[in-house]
Amino acid sequence: MSVDPDSDSKLPVKGVLLKGSCHCGAVKFTVRSSTPVPYQLCFCSICRKVGGVGGSINLGGYYETLNLDENSEEFISKYSPVLDRGTPEERIATSERNFCSKCSAMLWLHDPTWPDLVHPFASAIDSPLQVPKKLVCVKMVDKPEYVRLPDGAKEVYANYGQFSLEDWHKKNNLFVDYAE
Ligand SMILES: [Zn+2]
Ligand SMILES: [Zn+2]
Repeated sequence: MSVDPDSDSKLPVKGVLLKGSCHCGAVKFTVRSSTPVPYQLCFCSICRKVGGVGGSINLGGYYETLNLDENSEEFISKYSPVLDRGTPEERIATSERNFCSKCSAMLWLHDPTWPDLVHPFASAIDSPLQVPKKLVCVKMVDKPEYVRLPDGAKEVYANYGQFSLEDWHKKNNLFVDYAE
């Protein structure tokens, strides 16, 4: 297929379409993702406190494809995490976690440092997601003793694993270039 380089509209849209929502339904959104497998569970303090006791799983998506339903915008609040709270190094992270101001459900993370990407919380996605063969558990250094690891095959890392979301999907042949 030949594609006119001047006409973006003829290019297929990248990734697979994911539909998401908050718990109360005030916020509904869609986003396209090439990295839609919920394989990485993070136990860092931000992911545990904002995402619930067991941590958070983030997916990757294309920020320009993030599409909000009508009337959803007004219910979105943002949290920029405080890092090293209570120490001389205390500072505000560049990343913003977007959540519903009505029900507090976490929706997605966006960091202007990587403006093209958005990271929806897997918990906000309503589309069926593929079950990973193996879970990657990261930031064990921040996990309290009482938080148990999920059952099943897993890799466990004190800090972060060796692969980015994109590299992990590519290595496992799960990267979605284009789909309906
Ligand atoms: Zn809500
Ligand atoms: Zn985390």
